[in-house]
Amino acid sequence: MLGWFNKELEKLNSELAEVSSGREKLSAENLQLKQINGCLKNQLNTMVAFYEITKNICKSLDEEKVFSLFKEELVKYLKIDECRYLKEVVNLGGLDDFSILRLEIDKKPIGYLAAKPVKKEDEEIFYILSQQFSLAIKRAILYQRIQELAVSDALTGTLSRRHLLERFNQEIERSIKFGLKFSFLMIDIDHFKSFNDKFGHLVGDVVLREISEIIKQNLRQIDLVGRLGGDEIVVVLVETDCKGAMFAAQRIRQTVEKKMIRAYDEKLKATISIGIAEFGPGTVKLQSIMEKADNALYQAKSAGRNRVSVFGQPAE
Ligand code: GH3
Ligand code: MG
Repeated sequence: MLGWFNKELEKLNSELAEVSSGREKLSAENLQLKQINGCLKNQLNTMVAFYEITKNICKSLDEEKVFSLFKEELVKYLKIDECRYLKEVVNLGGLDDFSILRLEIDKKPIGYLAAKPVKKEDEEIFYILSQQFSLAIKRAILYQRIQELAVSDALTGTLSRRHLLERFNQEIERSIKFGLKFSFLMIDIDHFKSFNDKFGHLVGDVVLREISEIIKQNLRQIDLVGRLGGDEIVVVLVETDCKGAMFAAQRIRQTVEKKMIRAYDEKLKATISIGIAEFGPGTVKLQSIMEKADNALYQAKSAGRNRVSVFGQPAE
């Protein structure tokens, strides 16, 4: 009887040992699974972060804005101190301690992205994020190129820069041929950047569009109006001297000043400054015409903004 009992006990003990070793195995496997789970969670978080970063930097089609959004994300995500976007820079001297990535479109260099410090363990992430930046920058540059090829500017509906300059040159030739005068207006929104900074780019876009609309409505059909870039709209007043141009410019300035601009949930007021240059048949160079109008615009800005200035005369 005792023998049978001992045998049973032995059997039980060995079964118990098996169960306990099975339990140890299970708990080791459990630990491993937990580690894998932790790893997957980290990878998922990284993927979500990449997705968010990519989504944020693709919000804009403006090269500078893409970079500033990317920089914000990089500082937040990789604790970078300094990040620079160098356009068409060949000499990279003085950037020895920076991690540098060359950006290309169709194998042609478009610039460099330089950041520091990038920790050894963050190098791969920096590289992946930089690729996303590179894609967003390419998108912005290609958009810009298409814009330049298009006849009209998508945001303002005025002539695109390229087309405007073409038409402007034709107008210069015509004025020389027929001995006509014309005036050139350079119009710039005052403190436009602050609309973007306070209310966001989309609101800034509405302000730009509304002001362009006012400019168009206050011109004759024969006049040329186009977007030179950023918040600069230029106008060619055909067969108009500076007196007539001043009249038209003041009308535009006052209409903008009075207009309540509704942009999404915001009600905004904006002002513009205008520089005017008048040209007689003798003036031939587009560049010098633009420089004179730009000079007058600078005068209007310096005199306190929301003003019109004719080249060589005080602002009004
Ligand atoms: P100032 O009175 O001296 O002209 O001040 P400003 O803030 O208007 O001058 P600045 O030229 O520094 O700012 C122009 C801004 O216009 C900077 C740029 O980010 C913004 N910008 C350029 N293109 C666009 C665009 O298409 N949409 C929007 N929303 N902003 C743009
Ligand atoms: Mg401006």
